[in-house]
Amino acid sequence: MPTLAQVSAAAPRQAAVLVVDDAPAHLGALRSMMLQQGYQTFVANSGERALGIAQRALPDLILLDINLPGMDGMEVCRRLKAHPVTCNIPVIFMSARTETEDIVAAFDIGAADYIPKPLRLAEVCARVRAQLQFRRTSLSQQEQAERLRLIVNSIDEGLMIIEASGRIQYANPACDRYLGYGPGELAGCALDGLLAPSVAQEYLDIFSRSIAGAAPDCRGAREVLIRQRDGNLRAMDFTLTPMLADQPLFIALLHDITHHKQSETALQRAALADPLTKIPNRRHFDAFLEKEWQRAVRSSQPLSLIVLDVDHFKGYNDSLGHAAGDACLQQVAMALQSHALRATDIAARYGGEEFVLLFGETGFEAAAALGETIRAHIESLHIPNPGSTTSEWVTASLGVATIVPTQLDDLKGFFVAADRAMYAVKDAGRNGVRAVRTGSAHLEPALS
Ligand code: GH3
Ligand code: MG
Ligand code: MG
Repeated sequence: MPTLAQVSAAAPRQAAVLVVDDAPAHLGALRSMMLQQGYQTFVANSGERALGIAQRALPDLILLDINLPGMDGMEVCRRLKAHPVTCNIPVIFMSARTETEDIVAAFDIGAADYIPKPLRLAEVCARVRAQLQFRRTSLSQQEQAERLRLIVNSIDEGLMIIEASGRIQYANPACDRYLGYGPGELAGCALDGLLAPSVAQEYLDIFSRSIAGAAPDCRGAREVLIRQRDGNLRAMDFTLTPMLADQPLFIALLHDITHHKQSETALQRAALADPLTKIPNRRHFDAFLEKEWQRAVRSSQPLSLIVLDVDHFKGYNDSLGHAAGDACLQQVAMALQSHALRATDIAARYGGEEFVLLFGETGFEAAAALGETIRAHIESLHIPNPGSTTSEWVTASLGVATIVPTQLDDLKGFFVAADRAMYAVKDAGRNGVRAVRTGSAHLEPALS
């Protein structure tokens, strides 16, 4: 792969030199010398002409006689340095004046070099060559710095330079954008203002170990929550790398993972939903039940479970087709979900045409009443079921179990109680509700 320097180095063009002298003999000699060196050469015999050529031709170097008629070399140099287009062109003075103050004055107004007259042409050549070389190097360094600045400013990755004290020295525009800061606002802020205290402390510890001379153990990318300017937290991958510099500095790269997080959340959500009915699936329900169970044990609050099975659903499928069966299950699911309204309630598809509902902090009477409301709701959907011997509509059988769980009880027993109650309804002719109290607090379960 080419290096940055190789990429930025354009094909070297012929250097251009402007020679300014009012003595035709000097001008002629210098011109031929410069041409001989392979430079494109311009000449001027007055200060005014020199300024005009400099602005149009933008030479890489100007050899400037001080003693000129009219505008002298010093004034020419001042004007070149004052003009943004010509201010960076190196100027080499040539003069018979060799007093210290003349030389100092020349450097003070921006001369790159000062050659005493009479000229020794070989020396002039050597000094011109050295200046051109220096200019090439510094131009290519400027180009490289500019290129790096462009990269850092245009990447979509947040980049910060952090001092060992945790002070942010620099943040690139992507950083400002992600965190909602204006240009330059982050510089001077402390890293621990952006991270959770414990995470910030870990990094500050790494910094202080690095000041103490230990090799910094900057781990790879890790997910952190970064506080935006408006106080909201944003999940980002954060990578810290020590910077090889005189003072201990660290480069922090911030990679946005919002999209990744969103798809992760979407995946998690999908894993918990039943694909056909979009209501929670068995896995979601089981986890929810486990949590509510533990909570009820701690709070001694009642918990009620409804197991619901659609009646004669095989007959429904057989008479109207599987697709109609699917649509029917979707309708039933929606109806059930409309009864699980509180944060402690859930309605789920447990499998096939069997559904379950859990109601936290719900006692026996309330649960039995809910069971009846739900049964009536399903019936009132008036979904014709030609395959049913119970009703002309789709109906369901519901078993309701209520428990005030203790350490002596287990979840399985709770479930079995609701399931048995449901089967009792099936045996009794379907389209009904049976509610039971269960658990160690009710050693003799009472049937409603
Ligand atoms: P019961 O009143 O005793 O509950 O009788 P049933 O016919 O409802 O019960 P059974 O268990 O005999 O049949 C259940 C039917 O539900 C059989 C199966 O094809 C159907 N089923 C299960 N899952 C789906 C589904 O996702 N879509 C459709 N269309 N049918 C399903
Ligand atoms: Mg069934
Ligand atoms: Mg059934």
